[in-house]
Amino acid sequence: MAEADAAAWILLLIAPFIGSFLGLVIRRLPDGLPIAFVRSVCEECGVRLKTRDLVPVLSWLWQKGRCRYCGHPLAWFYPGVELAAVAIALSAVLVDGGEGAWLDCLLGWWLLTLGWIDLRRWLLPDVLTLPLVLAGLAAAAAFDPAELTPRALGAALGYTSLAAVAALYRKLRRREGLGRGDTKLLAASGAWVGAAALPQVVLVAALAALLAAAGLRLTGVRLGARSAMPFGPFLALATWVVWLAGLRGSIG
Ligand SMILES: [Zn+2]
Repeated sequence: MAEADAAAWILLLIAPFIGSFLGLVIRRLPDGLPIAFVRSVCEECGVRLKTRDLVPVLSWLWQKGRCRYCGHPLAWFYPGVELAAVAIALSAVLVDGGEGAWLDCLLGWWLLTLGWIDLRRWLLPDVLTLPLVLAGLAAAAAFDPAELTPRALGAALGYTSLAAVAALYRKLRRREGLGRGDTKLLAASGAWVGAAALPQVVLVAALAALLAAAGLRLTGVRLGARSAMPFGPFLALATWVVWLAGLRGSIG
């Protein structure tokens, strides 16, 4: 029990720093920029930020969201990703206790990165989606061998079902409705939640997307039949929700 508690605390403590790193990945990976060992600079004045300027969330709050050197407003992006990473760790620890939460966080942080990149750039990079398929199958093989077959099936089903929908949409509407990245993300989703839970992922994602569209409408943004939202963030969110719900089911 004490070990599980320690594991939980370590996860919660490192989560904001993981979030800072994911923020770098989200901003830099789509442009092929180096991620490791970059020196953080203020994007306005170019001053190199010191360690005390880079404490997750706290530095941002302390400086009231402004660069200490030039006063330029710093984007809420970094504290946003850091807080999201903490929220993922917190939900994983609450649902799964300390030790199992490490694997949950691996999935959750990976999905956070993918969803956020898609939101900013309409892109789900293969270098992130394809390894996530493998990681799901490897996790099944290592921790839950009985689940390996349903999860491999889930990966195959996730890919083919969405590829079929995308092909149909192209034929009917004569334009792209779903990105090719979405099919690979659903394959990754299937590799984690398994074939049986895949319909729930699609359902939750579709509902979340409808809610978001309704929310945008309420704030005055009109989405016509020809405008679109990236679907990846909703697939990522739904995968996370269904994964956590499945854990709760297996515990109870
Ligand atoms: Zn500055």
